[in-house]
Amino acid sequence: MTTVKAFCKTALCTAIVAAMSAAAFAATPSYPTVTQATLDNAASNNGWLMYRRDYTSNGYAPFKDINTSNVANLKEVWSYVNPINDQGYESPPIVNGDYMFVTTPKDELLAFEATSGKLLWKYTKNLSDTGLKTVCCDVVNRGVALYGDKVYMATLDNYVVALNAKTGKVVWQKQLIAPDIGYAMTLAPLTVKDKVIVGVSGGEYGARGFIEALNAKTGKEVWKTYTIPAPNQPGGNTWPKGAYKTGGGGAWLTGTYDAATNTLFWGVGNPGPWLATLRPGKNLYTDSVIAMNPATGKIKWHYQYTPNDTWDYDGVNETVMTNIDYQGKHYKALVTASRNGWFYAIDRVNGKLIYAKPFVTATSVNGIKDGQMTTDDALRPAVGKQVFTCPSFLGGKNWWPISVDPETHMAYVPAMHTCMTISGTTVAYKAGLPFLGEKFNVMADPKFPNQWGDVIAIDLNTGDQAWHFPSALPWNDGMVSTAGGLVFSGSADGYLYAFDAKTGKVLWKSPKMTSGIIGVPTTWKVDGKQYVSLWAGWGGATPIWGGDMAKDPAVKDIPRGGHLYVFSL
Ligand code: CA
Repeated sequence: MTTVKAFCKTALCTAIVAAMSAAAFAATPSYPTVTQATLDNAASNNGWLMYRRDYTSNGYAPFKDINTSNVANLKEVWSYVNPINDQGYESPPIVNGDYMFVTTPKDELLAFEATSGKLLWKYTKNLSDTGLKTVCCDVVNRGVALYGDKVYMATLDNYVVALNAKTGKVVWQKQLIAPDIGYAMTLAPLTVKDKVIVGVSGGEYGARGFIEALNAKTGKEVWKTYTIPAPNQPGGNTWPKGAYKTGGGGAWLTGTYDAATNTLFWGVGNPGPWLATLRPGKNLYTDSVIAMNPATGKIKWHYQYTPNDTWDYDGVNETVMTNIDYQGKHYKALVTASRNGWFYAIDRVNGKLIYAKPFVTATSVNGIKDGQMTTDDALRPAVGKQVFTCPSFLGGKNWWPISVDPETHMAYVPAMHTCMTISGTTVAYKAGLPFLGEKFNVMADPKFPNQWGDVIAIDLNTGDQAWHFPSALPWNDGMVSTAGGLVFSGSADGYLYAFDAKTGKVLWKSPKMTSGIIGVPTTWKVDGKQYVSLWAGWGGATPIWGGDMAKDPAVKDIPRGGHLYVFSL
């Protein structure tokens, strides 16, 4: 082998070769270690380090390189086509240093060089058919969490997998529960203080939900909190005898962490079975947000959005930390746009309601009494009783996260205008089989004919709507806002939109992508340049459960695919 010394006869040659090696070294993608301090300061990081960028879950980036005056010049920088082309792509691209991590349906994890699109490594979870059996709403995955030198994902067969972020080598994996009795995992984990925290899906199978924290280094269980209390625990008396064992309460979206009060906020899904006549009571903590101590998982307080839910109004949606001034008082708030069609501001210190206002037609949950939500008994289905009510079980908004912009002080809500017919049926629990007890059909909201979707801006200090962007198609994508005065979100027919955050005016629309969008966009900076990234890959719950909406030719004919796009100026 020729050494540099033997090869080079002159000092100049040696210097050139040395400089070339240095350039080669500099081209190695950098991966900064993610410490707790990195996560605590994620809001000011140039990357997009976690599901909603930082612990507040605002989905807001302080970048203004791309802004209202130049967004019209956005161009595709690179794109990547993944072979799985018949299932939904829901993962936000997570970026740290030069690395981008995205997940795909059926639990693949891809690492790219963020600026070039070079595939650095790929991991495929070896899912058994059993692992895919009890997944209600498409075999999706919503992305990764980072900590130390590891990247973490949760899988459909209930594993948490920790991989070396630079190499993709599995460091540990731990299965939380058997895959064939109703449980699955689709959420992005949350890493807090040496722990990886996840929650399970399974509300359509009567699986008793839980949230679990694992040691980030070893995968060992630190705590596990059931979302449905046992009879001897607080809230246990809100269930008929024995019903807690099959009470549902999935916790299938990522929570929020408040360092100031050392509190985790996590949404809890629908009770099991869907038909409420089979389980009289408030059924805590279903359709609620719970506040927990992150060190122990102990529940501090809860707020229930839909008592004794019988419409599948899962309370799992985002819990966004923001401060508001409402009717002359200042609050540290948590805000969410619930499936039940109401937009909530809750005092995040004590769990008390500040305000709740409907953002779509909402008839099942019909009011507030003494700070608690009330429901319309006439709109409760039973065996032999069919009702028509709004919104449909797919919700005024489904899981796609809202974004909160601290400058406009608005929340941006990806909404759907749907109602449903729903009636009761007989059902018996059997592990691993659907546990619903209802028949249903998603239909148009008579007040919004030919308009399945909407992007709605809500003024946080009043809860009132500031602007709308109506859409003939359901709006099934997460929202991102930026200091550039922009809101980004993708449409079901495959366009990435940039809205003026103040007015809702469309300032830019991408060329048509190869598939519809149901993921979550992210924006990040590498080497001083701002990028916007997202999956196009239609699928998820809407095509499976969408009834009349799914049958609408404009929705039915949305092309499938899995195509990752990155844009910049
Ligand atoms: Ca559900």
